[in-house]
Amino acid sequence: MNLLDIPNQFDVLVVGAGAAGLYTALCLPETLKVGLITKETVTLSASDWAQGGIAAAVAPEDSPQLHIEDTLKAGAGLCDLEAVEFLAEQAPSCIQSLVNLGVAFDRHGSNLALTLEAAHSRHRVLHAADTTGREVTTTLTAQVLRRQNIQVIQQALALSLWIEPETGRCQGISLFYQGKVTHVRAGAVILATGGGGQVFAQTTNPAVSTGDGVAIAWRAGAMLRDLEFVQFHPTALTKPGRFLISEAVRGEGAHLVDNEGRRFAFDYHPAGELAPRDVVSRAIFGHLQHTAADPAAAHVWLDMRPIPADKIRQRFPNIVNVCQHWGIDVFNQPIPVAPAAHYWMGGIFTDLQYF
Ligand SMILES: Cc1cc2nc3c(=O)[nH]c(=O)nc-3n(C[C@H](O)[C@H](O)[C@H](O)COP(=O)(O)OP(=O)(O)OC[C@H]3O[C@@H](n4cnc5c(N)ncnc54)[C@H](O)[C@@H]3O)c2cc1C
Repeated sequence: MNLLDIPNQFDVLVVGAGAAGLYTALCLPETLKVGLITKETVTLSASDWAQGGIAAAVAPEDSPQLHIEDTLKAGAGLCDLEAVEFLAEQAPSCIQSLVNLGVAFDRHGSNLALTLEAAHSRHRVLHAADTTGREVTTTLTAQVLRRQNIQVIQQALALSLWIEPETGRCQGISLFYQGKVTHVRAGAVILATGGGGQVFAQTTNPAVSTGDGVAIAWRAGAMLRDLEFVQFHPTALTKPGRFLISEAVRGEGAHLVDNEGRRFAFDYHPAGELAPRDVVSRAIFGHLQHTAADPAAAHVWLDMRPIPADKIRQRFPNIVNVCQHWGIDVFNQPIPVAPAAHYWMGGIFTDLQYF
């Protein structure tokens, strides 16, 4: 089959080839004919860029209940309790599935290695150096490519849900592929198109994060929810592309300091730089408003020198390389950082039903 040939009928069409789309495709029965569509190549997604790791209560001294409590606390009374419970309770078995599929998380001896991140009361973040997302997506992609029943269609831009006028039911999608608009029929369509950070001037997200799935669903009459909840990550490198400096860096002991070298985050929250992300982002922005002539263009500093050099090399090789590319030697100087749009909590209204 050459690139121009897309079957005009699938049992299930999954739109998006990040971690959500890849994992969904793998969870579907192999008896189903599945199409997995991405507007770019499978190697470009926010999932591929994820760094610090995945939180799951897998340590003996941890529990889903503690994970729930930490999440509710960080959520400042705005969490959907049922969704939080679902997430925290399912996380350990999902991690086990990823391990079974071949994802090589870092280990201490035979145990999974766990680090601390802000707002967690326990070390519960699994990682693969500082390129955890790449480890997950390359493993899932390899599994997907092995499956006879899944056809991956790259550089195919989903445009709209194809709604049957008489019934109002979705019967497939329209997509732009190889220079023309094509309609593809499917028994079910799953939208897994990721976030929308690109609507902001400064974002850590890749170019594909333009909120397409949310717009597609809305145009088809679906309900959207909580679109105003956008998380700003406190520490994006203030260079073009706003490369993320993972929160795990603060978890491992890096300090956030101002131009005078003062750890100002403690002025805003007793947990300092390990307060929840929204708190630290507001602390930085608030601090810059008081101290900088143009707060929008200013930055603070993330100092990795409190972390032993060996640990930096072992845990953050990619951050070291990217900073080096910009002429920043993290072993001898702090990194200029500022908040940037990072994670869109809102999206298509859904429920917790699964099978
Ligand atoms: C720099 C960075 C670091 C992060 N670090 C972490 C971390 O350490 N831990 C953590 O838990 N989370 C982290 N996150 C968040 C995490 O990466 C995302 O929540 C997660 O990857 C989202 O997965 P997804 O599959 O929903 O979306 P994505 O991975 O963004 O995938 C979306 C897919 O949809 C496709 N697509 C979009 N629109 C269309 C269209 N119209 N037609 C066809 N295809 C389309 C895209 O091409 C892509 O394949 C990070 C995010 C970023 C940006």
